[in-house]
Parts: sequence; C-alpha cells; structure tokens
Amino acid sequence: MVPDHFLYPHFTIQQFTENDLEYSINLSTTEKPDSCPYCGSSLQLSKHDNRTQRLTDIPYSNKHVRLILKRQRYHCKSCNHTFWERLDHSIDEKRSCTHRLLAYIEQRCFDETFVKIASAVGLHEKTIRNIFRDYISRLDLDSRFYTPEWLGIEVHHSRKPILILTDVKKRKVIDLLHGLEVLGPRLLDLPKREHIHIVSLPLVPVLKAVVQSSLPQATLVVYRSHIINIANSIIITMARQIKRNLSFTKREKLLQDQDVLSLPFEHLTSHNKDVIRYWEKELPVLIAAYKVKISFMNVLESDNSDEAARKYTHWKGTIPSHLQKAFEPLILAFDQWGKEIFEGIAHPAPTDYSTFVEGLIDQIAGTERGYSFEAIRAKNLLRGSTMQ
Ligand SMILES: [Zn+2]
Repeated sequence: MVPDHFLYPHFTIQQFTENDLEYSINLSTTEKPDSCPYCGSSLQLSKHDNRTQRLTDIPYSNKHVRLILKRQRYHCKSCNHTFWERLDHSIDEKRSCTHRLLAYIEQRCFDETFVKIASAVGLHEKTIRNIFRDYISRLDLDSRFYTPEWLGIEVHHSRKPILILTDVKKRKVIDLLHGLEVLGPRLLDLPKREHIHIVSLPLVPVLKAVVQSSLPQATLVVYRSHIINIANSIIITMARQIKRNLSFTKREKLLQDQDVLSLPFEHLTSHNKDVIRYWEKELPVLIAAYKVKISFMNVLESDNSDEAARKYTHWKGTIPSHLQKAFEPLILAFDQWGKEIFEGIAHPAPTDYSTFVEGLIDQIAGTERGYSFEAIRAKNLLRGSTMQ
C-alpha cells in the first residue's frame, strides 16, 4: 500500500520501492498534452520517444524521496515539431525537484541550517543555498525599504558585526547590514534620506562619523540604555576585581548577588535591599560606588537636555576621589558623546524600544551559528521583526 504522501495528482505510480535510506518511485504522467505548443493543433499528436528524469521530493518518515520519471516526447504531425510533455504543474526543472519540496526547503531555511536541510532532503548543501537565494531574490526584500523619521542603528557584536537599522517609532526592522563599512553606502542609498530627523546609535565613533557625513541634517542621539550599560559595567567590573580577595564562600555569594547591583533602584525588593546592606558592611567601597551609580541614574531621569547637563555637572563633582578612576568610562562617554546623550534625553525612545532591540539581538545571536547572513537578514525582515 503506497502512503498518501506519494499520491501525485499528475502522475501514475509505476513502481514503488524502499530501502533503509530512501523511497524510490517510478512515475509517468497521467494526462496526454491537449495540444501542440507550437501550432496549437490538438489532432495529430503522437508519442515520439522518452527519457528518464530523476527528481527529489519532500522526505518521508526520515528517508529521502527519489522520483524516477519517464518523460514522454511528442511529435505534432501538423507542424512537424517535437516537444517534451509539460511538468511545470508540479516540477521545478532548474532544481530537479517537486514544487512542494522547493516550498518546504524555503520555509525550513528560516529555522534550520543549510547543512541540516541538505542531509534531510538528500540534496547538496549548495543546492539548498541556491534555492534559498532564489527565494530571497523573489521576495524582493529591497522593495520593502522605506525611510523612517527616526532611524535606529543597533549593533550585534560578532566576528563581523551585524548592524540593525530600525524604525524607532514603529519598532520595526528596516534592514540588517553585515559589517560597519557598509553603513555609509546604505544610508546614501535610502530614498528621501533628508526626511530622517533623528538617528540613534551606540557609542561607536566610526558610526557617528558615517552618520554625520551621510545624514548631516539629522540629530544624533544616544539612548539611555547604552549609558546605563556603561554605569552597570563599572560596578560589575569593580565587583569582579574585589572578589579576588574574598574567601571562597563570600566570592560565591557575591557572584549570586551582584545582579542586584544592576537593577533599577525603584525595582528593588526588600530582599534586594538586605543584600545591599549586607555588602555595605562587607565591601563598603563597592557599595559606595553603587551609590554613586544610583545618584548618576538621576541624571538620566531629566525632562530636558539642559536639566540633564546641569545634573550631570553636579553629579560629577560629587564622585569621591577614591572612586574617580572607576567612573572614568562614564565620564569619558560624556566627554565624547555628551551632546548625543543629552539629545537622547530630549528625544527619548518609546518605552518598549529597548526591549524590542534586546529581543532582536538575542534572536540574531541565537541564529548566528550555521546560518548565512542572508538567512538571518531575510528572517528578520520577514517575520518577528515588528512588535505589535
Ligand atoms: Zn504543432
């Protein structure tokens, strides 16, 4: 009994065999052509000769599926042409496989590596790659681009960094770029790029230079999440250094507790506060630094950039001298990016934008291994890229 999987609408099964690795099905077409493709005559078509075509179909119960098709050539007596019977209802001749296998591969490329799919369907990895490439170019992702009013530039740090261009207001991915060097040409290529009012970016000097020269009209902003990360990393670095001098038990405890030091102050539970009090007794320097960080957060809570600048100057003056070295990275960030940071306070991102970006970066990091950049890009542009 042949499983339903193999009941092909336009073909008759001549023979059906299986071994440990694959199913092998001999097929011939069910219908004769209606008319000659050259002259349209339907009267005098006769069988000419035939050949065998080997094709691949969707795997079935973990085995490859090979189709061996007997393809007929016809002769038209009216115009004397010969022609092969049509297969375009179910077969893709370029890839020697069924249409349904193509669709199957195209979808699986979003979730599995080319190598894995190749082994599952019994085609060469290069074929899978080419199928996906054809699919991507058919989707014409480039035609979906538009120029947002607020452009976000995010970086996923990797061997070769991936830049994510977003529409900040709509929390939508506009494009993914491979490598920092492609940003300039891409920005210059954006339609009506003079419509971009605001560009948010991470603290990467080369990106700032590129944006300033390609989008001179735009206001550059750095969002608070980047600054909060710097502030938190100061405390974490300090905890890591201090930890070396602690007993094993205390070192382990600090390792467990240190995340509390990165929480926003207003989110601390009473247990979290006990943790901080404990460490205040054990490691007063660390908690002194933590308090400096908490008072710094107040700078970011300002309503406008002038207020933020005032608060920042005041805060800087309150850093105890023994902690000044530790806070250098933050001060350096303000020295080099002060204008953009204060603009970021004046033009804050929508509240869930940073969650959206974190989700995106996690997703990219999770799919990075084994996937081509094209697959990651297509995946992000096609699905899961908007937060509704
Ligand atoms: Zn003809």
